Amino acid sequence: RHAMLELPFDNSYARLPTRFFARLNPTPVAAPRLIKLNVQLARQLGLNPDLLSSPEGVNMFAGNSVPQGAEPLAMAYAGHQFGVWVPQLGDGRAILLGEILDQHGVRFDIQLKGAGPTPFSRRGDGRAWLGPVLREYIVSEAMAALGVPTTRALAVISSGEVIRREGLMPGAVLTRVARSHIRIGTFQFFVARQDMDALRQLADYVIARYYPKAASAQAPYLALLDAVVDRQAELVARWQLIGFIHGVMNTDNMSIAGESIDYGPCAFMDTYHPETVFSSIDQMGRYAYQNQPHIAQWNLTCLAQSLLPLINEDEQVAINRLQAIIDSYSNRFEHAYLGGMRKKLGLSKERDGDLALAQDLLERMAENKADFTLTFRGLGKLPVKAITDHTKANRPVRDLFDNPSAFDTWAVAWRQRLALEASDDHERQAAMNTVNPAFIPRNHRVEEAIRAAVEEENFEPFEKLVTVLANPYNDQPIYSIYATPPRPEEIVQKTFC
Ligand code: AMP
Ligand code: MG
Ligand code: MG
Repeated sequence: RHAMLELPFDNSYARLPTRFFARLNPTPVAAPRLIKLNVQLARQLGLNPDLLSSPEGVNMFAGNSVPQGAEPLAMAYAGHQFGVWVPQLGDGRAILLGEILDQHGVRFDIQLKGAGPTPFSRRGDGRAWLGPVLREYIVSEAMAALGVPTTRALAVISSGEVIRREGLMPGAVLTRVARSHIRIGTFQFFVARQDMDALRQLADYVIARYYPKAASAQAPYLALLDAVVDRQAELVARWQLIGFIHGVMNTDNMSIAGESIDYGPCAFMDTYHPETVFSSIDQMGRYAYQNQPHIAQWNLTCLAQSLLPLINEDEQVAINRLQAIIDSYSNRFEHAYLGGMRKKLGLSKERDGDLALAQDLLERMAENKADFTLTFRGLGKLPVKAITDHTKANRPVRDLFDNPSAFDTWAVAWRQRLALEASDDHERQAAMNTVNPAFIPRNHRVEEAIRAAVEEENFEPFEKLVTVLANPYNDQPIYSIYATPPRPEEIVQKTFC
């Protein structure tokens, strides 16, 4: 194997003690082919797109050659899967090549997902198939464009190999770029082994890399928890505000850096309903839309428990202090959620009753099967002053409701509330359009793109979808079909990973 490509790697995780990971190279694939290179992201990272799409670049993305400076490793972690404790998980099919600094000096992990078996693979084959790889590319890049903290997708390779899933599927490798691949489960891994030295080193590493302010706090590990709670409250609020359902919020799938990570059977809601679940493996609805805020807090409690041995105080005092931070999550979530909801409704000032106004709309949407995205986007187009004919003024939003008058009733209260602010209509509408997307990765479009790619090797629908979703807040009239909900026969009920 020749290491021909050289990237400016600087691998801090590889310098941690060897029990943090297993060093190994990716397993080469039969016939690598570049399906997609994220040129914009490559440039952002200071990498040369021409080099990355050259045969050397493709071989790197496939795991067929290890570039100079990389120190490939699979990370160790544990976690609660659907609430059940699993003492050892780890990267079973992902290999971290190393880290590079972007133009602003921000450190990013470069990881291959589907790069072959590792010591943590258990019974898995270490591979990924094209469907979920394209899904992760589409959805994570859409999230980035929507302004939600997320891991990114740098490249997709088809491997030329067939792998066994529900049937025989084409293999693929995704190159993922993330602020971090450290999870709550990474902390749990060392606590479960009573390895307090490693736990402390991990916490210090996380503070130095992501939360440097915590280092100078009076109690750095409490400050760390506080910072992570803040990020996660903000992140899940963002999910709720755009109708994103992660699908597998296990503690090993929650990033310590507060990015959305591990896109498996994730999906966006079309019709609004709080109990919506898409994941085929979530039979109990544990990770349903409305449960996400609470599950994040449950996961953060696992992090708090993991940090307990590091707090230099009487145990009960330490528990109380950790608990106080966990308890503060609800207020922080509410604050982020309500703040975001006000913007979605076009409200620039805070008033009591704003949350109730939003909840009333959501209840009416659920009852009347209104499309989440179109309803909010549509609000930004409605006139609010001097309305004589409400039916006419409320079109087309009211038409999204089974019983359109359910919207009309709410809209009266909404306009009354807006009248309390002296806002300019054009400014308000423009502001609403920056938070209420016109385009989300609708399930049926994602499935359509995957189907064309897998069945016909036609990547045009995938490319088109990626293009549209790069500007989710612009109307893009020529792509209007991507804004519309599925017809009944197009509805996707379940997503698989
Ligand atoms: P996930 O549900 O994607 O977070 O994965 C849970 C665990 O299963 C992680 O430790 C993964 O690395 C591992 N895993 C998932 N799919 C595979 C696979 N095909 N081969 C090996 N390990 C896998
Ligand atoms: Mg995972
Ligand atoms: Mg996964």
